[in-house]
Amino acid sequence: MLFEQNDLRWTKQREEIFSALRASLAHPTADELYRLLNSESAADLSTTPAPATHISLATVYNSLEAFTRSGLCRRLTSPTATTEGVGAFRYDAEMADHTHLVSPDGRITDLPDDLNARILAHIPQELVREVESRLGITIDRLSVEFIQAK
Ligand SMILES: [Zn+2]
Repeated sequence: MLFEQNDLRWTKQREEIFSALRASLAHPTADELYRLLNSESAADLSTTPAPATHISLATVYNSLEAFTRSGLCRRLTSPTATTEGVGAFRYDAEMADHTHLVSPDGRITDLPDDLNARILAHIPQELVREVESRLGITIDRLSVEFIQAK
């Protein structure tokens, strides 16, 4: 079980939040994920008699922080404004190196796999090693962003 491997306490709500994050291609903010989860619950309510589970915004925030700390997802800093204002964090459950397109409205999408692979293949490994040796650090992963013109 993914949560146990990452030393994370399992709850049904965390499972739901993580599934929704993993299923989303939109790199959602906590607020977007909160609205998504609660609108799905509302939709379930119309077809099943069982009460919808309400997940609070605080639970979404806390869970995303816990996932980030344990390496299940990563937090992105959106350089542009979102519906929540400037600087709301977006989250990404795809942990492999990949390339993002940042739209003028702050949305972040993954570039197509083939383009992504070609872009990353053009970053020379010897350059990465030189960054490590000159700065005395270890590079964990690469993140490339293409910022779309307004
Ligand atoms: Zn991504």
